[in-house]
Amino acid sequence: MPDVVVVGGGAAGMLAAWRAATLGAQVLLLEKTERLGTKILISGGGKCNITHDGPIEDVLRSFRPNEARFIRPACYRLPNTEIVRMLTDRGLKVYTRPDGRIFPVDQTARDVVAILEAYLKEAGVEVRLKATVLGIRSIKVGGAPTERVERARLAAFGSEIRGVDVVGSFEPCDHVVVAAGGCSYPKSGTTGDGWVWAKALGHTVEPVHAALAPLEVTANDVYRPDGGAKWPFPPGVALRNVVLKARQGGREVSRWQGDLLFTHHGLSGPCALGISRTVVERMSQSLVTVEVDLCPDDSFEFVSFQTKEWIGSNPLKKIAGMPNGALPASLLPYFFAAAKIEPETTCQRVSRKDVNRLVECLKGWQLGNVRHVPIEKGEVVAGGVSLGEVDPQTMRSRVCPGLYLCGEALDIAGPVGGYNLQAAFATGYVAGETAAKDALGGP
Ligand SMILES: Cc1cc2nc3c(=O)[nH]c(=O)nc-3n(C[C@H](O)[C@H](O)[C@H](O)COP(=O)(O)OP(=O)(O)OC[C@H]3O[C@@H](n4cnc5c(N)ncnc54)[C@H](O)[C@@H]3O)c2cc1C
Repeated sequence: MPDVVVVGGGAAGMLAAWRAATLGAQVLLLEKTERLGTKILISGGGKCNITHDGPIEDVLRSFRPNEARFIRPACYRLPNTEIVRMLTDRGLKVYTRPDGRIFPVDQTARDVVAILEAYLKEAGVEVRLKATVLGIRSIKVGGAPTERVERARLAAFGSEIRGVDVVGSFEPCDHVVVAAGGCSYPKSGTTGDGWVWAKALGHTVEPVHAALAPLEVTANDVYRPDGGAKWPFPPGVALRNVVLKARQGGREVSRWQGDLLFTHHGLSGPCALGISRTVVERMSQSLVTVEVDLCPDDSFEFVSFQTKEWIGSNPLKKIAGMPNGALPASLLPYFFAAAKIEPETTCQRVSRKDVNRLVECLKGWQLGNVRHVPIEKGEVVAGGVSLGEVDPQTMRSRVCPGLYLCGEALDIAGPVGGYNLQAAFATGYVAGETAAKDALGGP
């Protein structure tokens, strides 16, 4: 019988299994798919944004305050510098982009997974692939498990957890780490199984929704003169360094600066992903619209001054030739449709009202309203096991002795930038450490 069973061979599960084994525990790692680290392999477009550079307090500031508070102890136990050290010690060369995102130099996530696998092997972790866990067995003792008296009875009796049901077998074990991830990209193995088990063991699972996901958008009528529902913008076109804003009832509710990609159904890229979580949270209340600031580093007044200057000094040029920051040629017809100006108009025929509309579009080009944010296409999901029911110092369940929770199964969703792998690595590390200590009866 293993001392610790870890369910899920992603970032959190691998770190949990490795850390538990380094402390002397017999560890069994169960993974549903035929390989470890599937999401690491697809992370960062296959390049793997391992973590984020900088002081750990700065890294934490990028999370929502309650999530930052929860992962703070774990991130101090396994900070960004430490996960980088673990990888570079084994020969991985990394570089930091100007925006703080850390990647392998040779741009492949495969090397990251190979190194983590090597760590598991050296530590003696038994890895079982194609091992789908069906549930976690626990002994049933009467009374609410959160009551003190009940906890004392359980403590005297031993752990509540009895083992895990795997397809075709039962693995007896008193200490189980759930690292089964979220439910985005279900083909990668993550189908929300961990939440079903956590709920069955008495945990609250906060409502799950998309985060870091593309936006499906219904374009404004001005871009669809035929009234068709199709998103008309050319897919594959990207805007560099713009600000995407979400508005509700005219009020800005979210913004993200970076690159924006037009897709077949709407918007993707860092900007769209960056605002998606808030957009989903707001959509149930009322319509959320999206607009782009094409000149985010210049004030409205400066853009207005520049535009007027250019128009005044180029009376015979067509307005379509106006310098427009990030806008590629294929988007110009849509931009001018929004500004209600014929792109072939010569500058001398552009009125003051036209100029005002142009500047308004440069600083807030309205594209349409968000129709849907597909959870399955998100890099992570928001929601999951309630943070109040897990001890942030140890990742022990406060509800069910012998159970440890980590990674995306928890109600944590960081922004784009290596934050989510950092949270998964750190919480996994602490969960494995605690499970091993509890199992081996050490301090
Ligand atoms: C396309 C994409 C790109 C991303 N890019 C980045 C990035 O560059 N940087 C970053 O920080 N984050 C990125 N993320 C997010 C990051 O990958 C996740 O936050 C992180 O992998 C979560 O780790 P985890 O171990 O909690 O879960 P996962 O990595 O999802 O691992 C969970 C594992 O549990 C297994 N499992 C599930 N159910 C069972 C079961 N019943 N029995 C046995 N095993 C089971 C699954 O097969 C899976 O292997 C990206 C995500 C996606 C989808």
